[in-house]
Amino acid sequence: MSHSGKTTLENYVGGVLSAPGSREYLDNFNPATGEVYSQIPDSDEGDVQRAVEAAKNAFPVWSNTSPEDRFTILMRLVELIERDLEELALAESIDNGKPVSLARNADIPRAIANFRFYATAAMHTANESHDTVGQNAINYTLRQPIGVVGCISPWNLPLYLFTWKIAPAIAAGCTVVAKPSEVTPMTAYMLSKLCIEAGLPAGVLNIVHGTGPKVGSAIIAHPEVKAISFTGGTKTGEEIARTAAPMFKKLSLELGGKNPNIIFADCNYEEMLATTVRSSFSNQGEICLCGSRIFVERPLYEKFKSDLVARAAALKVGDPLEAKTDVGAIVSKQHFDKIMSYIELARQEGGTILCGGHALDLTTETQRSVESKAETRPVGGVSSDRKLGGWYIEPTIIEGLSPDCRTNQEEIFGPVVTIMPFDTEEEVLDQANGVRYGLSATVWTENLSRAHRFAAKLESGIVWINCWLLRDLRTPFGGVKDSGLGREGGFEALRFFTEEKNICIRI
Ligand code: NDP
Repeated sequence: MSHSGKTTLENYVGGVLSAPGSREYLDNFNPATGEVYSQIPDSDEGDVQRAVEAAKNAFPVWSNTSPEDRFTILMRLVELIERDLEELALAESIDNGKPVSLARNADIPRAIANFRFYATAAMHTANESHDTVGQNAINYTLRQPIGVVGCISPWNLPLYLFTWKIAPAIAAGCTVVAKPSEVTPMTAYMLSKLCIEAGLPAGVLNIVHGTGPKVGSAIIAHPEVKAISFTGGTKTGEEIARTAAPMFKKLSLELGGKNPNIIFADCNYEEMLATTVRSSFSNQGEICLCGSRIFVERPLYEKFKSDLVARAAALKVGDPLEAKTDVGAIVSKQHFDKIMSYIELARQEGGTILCGGHALDLTTETQRSVESKAETRPVGGVSSDRKLGGWYIEPTIIEGLSPDCRTNQEEIFGPVVTIMPFDTEEEVLDQANGVRYGLSATVWTENLSRAHRFAAKLESGIVWINCWLLRDLRTPFGGVKDSGLGREGGFEALRFFTEEKNICIRI
C-alpha cells in the first residue's frame, strides 16, 4: 500500500490490516540517510478502542484453546519468521540504524527464540496443590489467563523486545493490544502480516501504531486492559504507573539503566577487553544492558585505557547495510541530539574525551554493497545510490569524571562510556551502587570468592560474571530500584499474564 509515494504501514486489528480512523500518518525516518522512507498510522483512542474490542471478543475462545493448539499456531509463526529472516533483518537495520549483521545474527533470531520458547513453555506449566493435612482439605491453584493485556515496547531492539512480551501473553491464553515504538514500527508491521499467514485467530494480537502520548496512554488507561507489560524509559514508566496503579492493573516495567562494568586486575584480560568493546558499543550503545560506567582496578587502568581506546578507534562507524560496519546510525535526530548534549555536558563537567566525542558526517559516502540475500527485495525503498545523511556518532570514551556527576548518573543510551580507576572493593561497590538505576552489572575477576561476594552485594537485577549479555530465556529478567518492577523471562512471564485463584475443598 502506498501513501505519498512511500510505503504506508497499517494497523492490525481484528485480524485484518487497516488504516487508522483519522487517516492521519506520521513520517518514519531511515536513520542512515536521514530521509523519510515510510508512513505510519497516527492512531488514536478510537483505534485503541477498536483493538480492545477485538481482543475482548477473541478472548473467550483463545483462553480456552488448548496449549497444544496454541503451540501449533505459534510454531507456524516461528517457521514464517525463519523463512523471512533476511528480509526482517534488512528491515530492522533500515528502520533502526543498527548494523544488518547484528539484526541478522541477534535481533531476528531472538524474536524466533521468544516465540519458540513460549510456544513450548505453555505446554509445560503446572499448578500447585496443597494437601491440608489435619483439616481434611485439599487446596489447589488455578492460573487463568488474565484477559486483554497491553504490550508496549521501545525502539532499540524492536522485534526482539516486542515479541518478548507478545509471545508469553499469547501463549498464556491472553489476547493482546500492542504498540511498537513509533520510531521503529516496520518489523512489527511485517509480523502482523505473518500472523495472518500463520492463521492466528482474529483479535488474539492487535497492533496499533502511533505515538506514546496518543496510543500508548490510551492502552494504559483503558479499563478493559488488565495488565501492562512495558519496556522503555524510567520517566515513561513513572507516567504509566501513575495511571495504571490506581486502576489496580498488573504492571511489568522494564526501564532504564546506568550499568557498571567492574574490572579487577586479576581478570582474563583479552576476554574482558573484547567483551567490554561489545558491552560498550554494540547496537551504538543503545542496549539497556550496555555497561556505560567502567570501573578499572588501578594497576590495570593505564593499560586498559590505551587498549580500549585503540579498539574503539578501530571500530568502523558507517552504513548499517555494509557487512563491515561495527557501529551504525543513531536511531533518530532527537536521540542523536540527546547523546551529543551529554558529550558536551561531560566536557563541561571536566571530563577528558580520550576517543571519539564527535558526530560523523558521512554525506559524501554512498551505500556501496548490501551483503544480504534480501538485496533484491528492498524494504521501504532502499536504492543503491542513497547518501548517508543520517545520524552518526563516534564511539566515545571519557575519563576524569567523578562517579556522582550527571554524566555518570544519567542514562545516555548511546556509544558513550566513562572509565574510572578504583583502589578497593568497598569503594567500587559503593560507586557501582551509587545510582538510581539497578538493571545489570558486569564483574571481571578470576577470584571466585570475590565474584560471589560482589554478585550478592550489587544492587542489580542481573549480574554477569566474566561475560556479558549471555542469555538463558528461562532466567528472571528485570531491574531493581528505578530500573523497573517485576521480572520477564521463563515461567515468570507466563505467570504475569495469568491470575491465580486458590480453591479449597473439604474432603
Ligand atoms: P520511551 O519510554 O520513550 O518509549 C517506550 C515506549 O513507550 C514507546 O513505544 C513509546 O512510544 C511509548 N510511550 C511513550 N510515552 C508513553 C506514554 N505516556 N504512555 C504509554 N506509552 C508511551 O523509551 P524509548 O523508546 O526511548 O526507549 C529507550 C528506553 O528504553 C531507555 O531508557 C532504555 O533503557 C529502556 N529500555 C529498557 C530495557 C529493559 O529491559 N529494562 C530494554 C530496552 C530499553 P513512542 O515511541 O511512540 O514515543
